[in-house]
Amino acid sequence: MSYRVNGFTGITLFSTCRKPQFRRYFSCCKQLEMEERANSDSELIIGDRDSLANKIASIRSAGPQKLQVIADFDATLTKFWVNGTRGQSSHGLVQQDNPEYDAKRQELYDYYHPLEFSPDIGLEEKTKLMEEWWGKVHALLIEGGFTKESIIQSVANGNIAFREGVFELFELLEEKGIPVLIFSAGLGDIIEEVLRQKLHRTFTNVRIVSNRMVFNDGGRLVSFKGKLIHSQNKNEHALDMATPVHIHLGDGDDPNEDNASIKKRTNVLLLGDHIGDLGMSDGLNYDTRISVGFLNHNIENSLSYYRGSFDVVLLNDAPMTEVVKLVSSMCSKEE
Ligand SMILES: [Mg+2]
Repeated sequence: MSYRVNGFTGITLFSTCRKPQFRRYFSCCKQLEMEERANSDSELIIGDRDSLANKIASIRSAGPQKLQVIADFDATLTKFWVNGTRGQSSHGLVQQDNPEYDAKRQELYDYYHPLEFSPDIGLEEKTKLMEEWWGKVHALLIEGGFTKESIIQSVANGNIAFREGVFELFELLEEKGIPVLIFSAGLGDIIEEVLRQKLHRTFTNVRIVSNRMVFNDGGRLVSFKGKLIHSQNKNEHALDMATPVHIHLGDGDDPNEDNASIKKRTNVLLLGDHIGDLGMSDGLNYDTRISVGFLNHNIENSLSYYRGSFDVVLLNDAPMTEVVKLVSSMCSKEE
C-alpha cells in the first residue's frame, strides 16, 4: 500500500518560493513532508506549485466569506483501508433485516461494479447502467423493509472510519464560517448517521447532497426523494438538491435560502478520490478552485492522470492533516 515518488520533496519546492504570504503554507507542508517521511506511509504531491501558490493567494485575499468546501464522502472523507480491509461505503455497509436482500444487493454489485469501471462502455450507456443499478438497489431496500432503526444498526456494525483530521477540518471550517457540502452518490441518511456516530457532534456548516430516504410513520422506507444521484451524474444540480443535515434535527432552516448564499461563495476547495469528483463544482460559477485528490489505490497507473487533474494529490490513504493546514493558510490574515 505504500508508494513514494522519487524526486518530490516539499522542501525543495517550498524553498523556491520567496513570497512571504506563501511561506506559512509552504512551511506547513515542509513540516508535513518531514512528518510523512518519518511515517513513510503517505505522500503529498503538487503538480504545479506556482499555480497552487497563486490560487492560495487569491482565496486568501478574497477572505473566508467567499470560500466553500465541496467534498465527496466515500474514500475521501472516509478511509480507504479500515482495520486492515477495504472500508465500506455508505451503500456497502447497509444491512437489511432480511439477509436475503443483502445477498440480492451483493449480486447486483458483482454484476454492475465491473461495468462501472469498464473502459469499453461509453458514457451514455454507462449512465443508463448506473441508473439501472441504483434504481434496483433502492427498490430492494424498499421491498425488503428497510427501516430507520436499520440505519443505526448498519452504521454501528459497519467497517467505516473517517480519515484522521476530518473532525479538526470541520471544526476549523465551522469556526471560520465556511460551509461544507458533502456531495455523494451514496445514501444521505447513512452518511448523516455515520457523522453522528463517528464524530459525536453535529456541525451547523455541514450539508449533504445525496440520495435521501422517505420513511412512513412506522419508520419503514417507502421511497426516495429528489433526483437520483449515481456515480455518473455527480455534476448536476448539486446546490439545488442540497438538504442541510440539521434540517432533520428540526431547526427549520430554509435550504433555498442557504443555496442562494452558497452560490455567492465563488472560491472552492474541492476534495475527491475520483477524477469524476472534479465535476462536483460544475454547478457553481467559481472564481478560484483548489482541488485535492486522494489517490488510494492503483497508484502506478493513475498517478500521472491525478497529478495533471488535481492541484494536490495525497497518496496512500493519507490523513486530512495537510488539508487542515491548507485551510489554515488560506484563511490566514498574515502577509
Ligand atoms: Mg469517493
